[in-house]
Amino acid sequence: MKSSNPYIGRFAPSPSGPLHFGSLVCALGSYLDAQSHGGQWLLRMEDLDPPREEPGAATRILNSLEAHGLHWHGPVVWQSKRHALYEETLEQLRKKELLYPCYCSRSQIRENGGHDNLKCRVKIADSGACALRLQCAGGEEAFIDIWRGKQCQPIREDTILKRRDGLHAYQLAVVVDDIAQGITQVVRGADLLDTTGAQIRLFHILGAKLPTFGHLPLVMGPGGRQKLSKQNHAPAIDDNKAAVNLCTALGFLGFHVSQALEQGSTEHILNWATARWQRHQIDNHDRQLH
Ligand code: GLU
Repeated sequence: MKSSNPYIGRFAPSPSGPLHFGSLVCALGSYLDAQSHGGQWLLRMEDLDPPREEPGAATRILNSLEAHGLHWHGPVVWQSKRHALYEETLEQLRKKELLYPCYCSRSQIRENGGHDNLKCRVKIADSGACALRLQCAGGEEAFIDIWRGKQCQPIREDTILKRRDGLHAYQLAVVVDDIAQGITQVVRGADLLDTTGAQIRLFHILGAKLPTFGHLPLVMGPGGRQKLSKQNHAPAIDDNKAAVNLCTALGFLGFHVSQALEQGSTEHILNWATARWQRHQIDNHDRQLH
């Protein structure tokens, strides 16, 4: 289904570990949604947090995507090379007097029962390390999620845009890059649903047009209690079993897949799925991997 509106989607992995089955499902969902709308699918490597990164993981992720036939448009965007852009945005917000240093440690915040922004805002200088917060708390942000429908999220905290350790925060980089790359559709895992309201608030403050957001159900690990994630050491997907992995992932995305399809090439499987993809085939239930 082609439309006259340009569609620019993206997959934005963090290289804290190799691609696991849960991230394959997200990559595939956002790929199929983009392809079936005649859109572009961009790849952004969110390598912003060196202490949490695993050496070699970024290359392994790119190789796994290629092995599964998930080819992206244009060059990979590396967040580690975009610090100047994030600083420019911080400067813009500083000029509007929307940024303030926050010296609270996590334990202080816990003791206060939350972040005490008044205390931070009046503090003039401190020798300790500080985070930079965006003055943005208050009210709520509403949006229509492709799969979850109407969402209304209160904005309780002033978002941290630069961390105490000097690193740019995910919330800053993700919004700045989605704007800079002209992303029109953000399709990603439901673990990021709760961060969306604060991101929308930042889009508004920066005067940018909002993309559409869609959050895919999560793949839960054996036992069904935890989502598969790099933090839980989910195993890397086996690139030598790309066709089987794709077919299993298609099952998670609501397709009825015949065993014969698994014998096809990754290209054939992806074409088959692109031609049949319908958003309403996905429900909101997280599913367990057996
Ligand atoms: N880099 C984030 C992650 O791997 C995803 C960011 C996004 O899709 O907005 O969890």
